[in-house]
Amino acid sequence: MSKINENYLNLQGSYLFAEVAKRTAAYKAAHPQEQVISLGIGDVSRPLVPAVVDAMKKACDEMGQAGTFRGYGPYEGYDFLRNAIARHDYQARGINISADEIFVSDGAKSDVANFQELFSADSRVALQDPVYPVYLDTNVMAGRSGIFEEGQFKNIIYLPCVAENNFAPELPQAHADLVYLCSPNNPTGSVLSAEQLKKWVEWALEHQAVILYDSAYEAFIRQDGVPHSIFEIPGAEKCAVEFRSFSKTAGFTGTRCAYCVVPKALQIYDENGTAHSANALWMRRQSTKFNGVPYIIQRGAEAVYSPEGLQQTREIIDGYLANARVIAGALKKAGFTAYGGENAPYIWLKTPQGVSSWQFFDFMLQELQIVGTPGSGFGHSGEGYFRLTAFNTPELTEQAAQRILKLK
Ligand code: PLP
Repeated sequence: MSKINENYLNLQGSYLFAEVAKRTAAYKAAHPQEQVISLGIGDVSRPLVPAVVDAMKKACDEMGQAGTFRGYGPYEGYDFLRNAIARHDYQARGINISADEIFVSDGAKSDVANFQELFSADSRVALQDPVYPVYLDTNVMAGRSGIFEEGQFKNIIYLPCVAENNFAPELPQAHADLVYLCSPNNPTGSVLSAEQLKKWVEWALEHQAVILYDSAYEAFIRQDGVPHSIFEIPGAEKCAVEFRSFSKTAGFTGTRCAYCVVPKALQIYDENGTAHSANALWMRRQSTKFNGVPYIIQRGAEAVYSPEGLQQTREIIDGYLANARVIAGALKKAGFTAYGGENAPYIWLKTPQGVSSWQFFDFMLQELQIVGTPGSGFGHSGEGYFRLTAFNTPELTEQAAQRILKLK
């Protein structure tokens, strides 16, 4: 008899987006004349930039010629891309990360989901609440969560991120071995300062813990002084891994390319306290389970770092950030308290006193025909908040803002 991995039965239903879709579809069916605007989407709306498309076409031609055709590529990514990443995203910022610490992948989702495999089943996990659900669910699958009771898993350490602490997680009271931090944050749109990251790095070094740092939205950082990488903090190379993605940086959500930085100085320990290189273990894992990102896609990602690619992708992100300002401005004028949107494509607003996240969802849909995402769907501490995204077109974003202003 085939037996199930019981941990999968511990997963809570992915109720959030299914329920959003269900309520939206029901409303549209009952009101076919209304134009519903989605500010719930976490996907980009602008196409790949010309510099990327040109590079991909050229790579496509190479693949059609015997002399330049390529089969399986390196598991960890082609050197041309790893070198470009190391140079532009790290060395140009004075951060000492080299190409052999970079692993190219098909997504930050896969990387943040898979990296936990390197750690023992009894590792204690801490994560921000509200949270990008992948960190939690993959640890549930791995059997680290304990049972689900009263809305939370017993063995997970939840770090509330709410307006009262400026959405910055406080250090865990109990011991943790792994901590997921996300900055710029999905869903709250907040960023962690150098001061805050320094506190986390010191804590991780002291506890021999590892920080899994997700900076998939790094390209949205515009404020001076906000760290772009955890490796700006001295000592982080001994206690952190960083995940980045071309998805939101350059519109690769459908094309798939990302990378993970595993410093050679990062060590993890066996039962006897003997240290092992996380970089070598991750290489072993990737070479066993992953056959690399397509050559054509990696050439496209490399072109993001060309002068034209940098300029073209920056303009697109500026456009999304302009959308964020339009939404946040309208919300504030209408009397809401709204956070985020300055260094992130997410606006996180406080629902009115006594109105739950789902009640606010229904209100926005029925009164303004705007779809957002209820904060409670991202975790316990997201209750009383609501997420709007800046990824729609400028035209529809402006229309949504006009509707919000009617609430003034
Ligand atoms: N990390 C965060 C915080 C995200 O919000 C997302 C996507 O929404 C991802 C990772 C996934 O990125 P990718 O498209 O590279 O898999």
